[in-house]
Amino acid sequence: MTTTLQEAPKTAVDSSSANESIAHLTPKNSEMLAMGLLVIQPSPFCNINCDYCYLPNRTDTRRMDFAVLEKVMDKVWSSGLVQSPFSLLWHAGEPLAVPISWYEQAFEIINRYPKASEYVIHSVQTNGTLITDKWCDFLKQHHVEVGISIDGPREIHDHHRKTRSGEGTFDKAMRGMECLKRNGVSFGVVTVISDISVDRPDEMYEFYREHDITGIGFNIEEVEGANTSSSLGKSGGHARIRSFLKRFYERNKADGFPLNVREFQNAERNILEPGWCSRPDGEYYNQEADPFGMVNVDCFGNFSSFSPELLGQPTEKYGSFSFGNLLSGSLFDATRNDSFRQVLSDIESGNRKCAETCEFYRYCGGASPSNKYYENGTFDSTETHQCISTVKIPMQIVLEDLENELGITEKVSPLMEKPRPAGH
Ligand code: SF4
Repeated sequence: MTTTLQEAPKTAVDSSSANESIAHLTPKNSEMLAMGLLVIQPSPFCNINCDYCYLPNRTDTRRMDFAVLEKVMDKVWSSGLVQSPFSLLWHAGEPLAVPISWYEQAFEIINRYPKASEYVIHSVQTNGTLITDKWCDFLKQHHVEVGISIDGPREIHDHHRKTRSGEGTFDKAMRGMECLKRNGVSFGVVTVISDISVDRPDEMYEFYREHDITGIGFNIEEVEGANTSSSLGKSGGHARIRSFLKRFYERNKADGFPLNVREFQNAERNILEPGWCSRPDGEYYNQEADPFGMVNVDCFGNFSSFSPELLGQPTEKYGSFSFGNLLSGSLFDATRNDSFRQVLSDIESGNRKCAETCEFYRYCGGASPSNKYYENGTFDSTETHQCISTVKIPMQIVLEDLENELGITEKVSPLMEKPRPAGH
């Protein structure tokens, strides 16, 4: 895929403050891009101190000014990128460390924009330790989707997820989760699989069942930002991850699949519904690799696109991945930014290599640029631990199971498509 500059299309929503028309990055042979995810950092601060965290400024307690939020919304709404409902994720720091009163005002500002109540789907990713009945009332009232980070049973969770004084956070996180349940707030759990849990799939499976946790996403501990090494980066890591996921899948299958595991659900959908996530030009839609598919804004109005983990990370080649500031400029400023152009060109080059060499490209679109950068030193690269763990292994496990069910024994699976030759 090569990205070209085109004139700005009309935005689907009309903003009273939108007097600015921006040109637009549009992939060749494709319909116009739309923003699928807007990540806003209300504050960099986090009240706990997990040892695998990638955020560099998590002791900084400053908050986003409402004047900054207004500018962010003005610029987003007038950008032409709001074409359909999108997720607004309050993240990067612990979002619930900012008081409810701040969000009440923030939501009031956002709801001033035309069709905001239809187009904005709020979500939070929280460590769960600050959840109260009052928070539950607020989350319910505004239909906020909730992701809570819990790594497993106490000993496993507390191994990495600690307070600044070194205490485990399991009790507080579980109390928060129980509070969500008691108040009827639905949620999903995100679990980081690390050295401490990867060899314990049965214990992990039983933990979710015992606590009625039904929606799970596994993040395999990654090398990213301030977290410069992974406990699973050692030799044998992939075999251990495969064995964890396989056992977990088998336990879930034996019980009739009571748990919805994001990685297996994606794999199953990719296999059984090819094209479900395709762009009009036939490419797999990878929001993280598309310019403006994701827009990430820190609490000072600096913004980036692509993987949210990149924003604010200091690098020699690309600076801090800040492509402009929405207080003084527009989202289109990014297209004139050398760092943005270099990132985009390197991501596209890496994805072309993926398309030529990897049979999974049609099911992942090149996966996460930030993992390519942090693991391989450049976006212009292919395989990472992250894509092996979250794309390849889950697809192989699901495929193997489906083929067994269907009695398919060929060595080359007819369910998988081959990589396309270069230039196609
Ligand atoms: S699975 Fe990995 S190597 Fe294969 S296409 Fe996706 S990112 Fe590239």
